[in-house]
Amino acid sequence: MPEAHFRFYEELNDFLPVDRRRQEFRVFFEETRSVKHLIESVGVPHTEVEIILANGESVGFDYLVRDGDFVSVYPVFELLDVRSLVRDAPLRDTRFLADAHLAGLARRLRMAGFDTVVADAEADAALVRRAVAEGRILLTRDLELLKHRELTHGLYVRALKPLEQFREVLLRLDLAASMRPFTRCTVCNGAVDDVEAAAVADRVPDAVRARHARFARCGGCGRVYWEGSHWRRMREVLARAASA
Ligand SMILES: [Zn+2]
Repeated sequence: MPEAHFRFYEELNDFLPVDRRRQEFRVFFEETRSVKHLIESVGVPHTEVEIILANGESVGFDYLVRDGDFVSVYPVFELLDVRSLVRDAPLRDTRFLADAHLAGLARRLRMAGFDTVVADAEADAALVRRAVAEGRILLTRDLELLKHRELTHGLYVRALKPLEQFREVLLRLDLAASMRPFTRCTVCNGAVDDVEAAAVADRVPDAVRARHARFARCGGCGRVYWEGSHWRRMREVLARAASA
């Protein structure tokens, strides 16, 4: 049976069983297979892969693996697709679709100004279609989801806690400089704009209006934000995350 030698680098090893990590191992295949297929067959989602070398030469996902090939697979340090997305469009257009388990991460991304939708209990295929149609980066801890062929922008979130997940996404996509804090509603993802204090008189207690000068309102749900203690706490959270 034809066989190829694979070695995975850096954090791609997280996806492999312990006895295959950081070392060369053999993969057998009966029919001719693309390198993408074989990479996913050992458990590594293609969206995590950036560079593939076959016998020392850079190849694409479509490369058909031959008997005896040596294949080296490197992770996404910064997603190429995401970089081009960011380069060609204003930075605020870095949009996310978080799966239903990542609502805490989604709130923090909104806090930082990133347009982030949380998926309902949509079927996987529908989720993938939506991410592609709306130009959103799919955030998930579900490896199967990232293996969908049509998916172009996806990120496997490794951390378990929302704040650490937030730091991870900022770091891996190099987004710290693109944050626009307090421009988006953390509850509904609507755009938040500054408003005069008088305009929110009916939504804000008098005592709050007396003490604060800056107010902003969500164009989606109407929620009013002001620069109070909550706002300061959020600022601290963002600053800590960005400097991590
Ligand atoms: Zn809102």
